[in-house]
Amino acid sequence: MTTNRTFTMIKPDAVANGHIGNILAMITNAGFRIVSLKLTQLTVADAQAFYAVHAQRPFYGELVDFMSSGPIVAAILEKENAVADFRTLIGATNPAEAAEGTIRKLYATSMGENAVHGSDSDENAAIEGNFHFSGREQF
Ligand code: ATP
Ligand code: MG
Repeated sequence: MTTNRTFTMIKPDAVANGHIGNILAMITNAGFRIVSLKLTQLTVADAQAFYAVHAQRPFYGELVDFMSSGPIVAAILEKENAVADFRTLIGATNPAEAAEGTIRKLYATSMGENAVHGSDSDENAAIEGNFHFSGREQF
């Protein structure tokens, strides 16, 4: 089954480096409709919960510190097959392995500071989107 919604964050590195506009343009040019959008910041507790699946990994502390270090852009996006198509648009986790023309190839600086998040399943897309946006903020 395919879904029509995913959730993304433009991460603190890409916000600090001035890439919000270019990344949103790539997203909309790829056919995603913006359902919800805001500039916000994760607390340490938010980042710990968001990446809890990685709690035992050696990079977890660094990841939590980075993701809570500054503002992010949170968004819910809509498109047919949204989760998979958005993962294709952002490229591999490690920008050195990301395909040409992907958001991470263009804007990520390292494995840790890799510009954007994309949900990995329909279920997580719904959980993550509903964490950031109330029903009246989803259009
Ligand atoms: P995201 O969930 O942020 O969209 P992803 O799904 O491509 O990224 P995950 O495996 O979920 O990758 O890892 C979450 C994040 O943890 C990565 O985006 C990256 O910032 C960081 N990360 C993952 N693996 C490593 C690693 N080996 N070293 C440093 N950071 C890592
Ligand atoms: Mg992930």
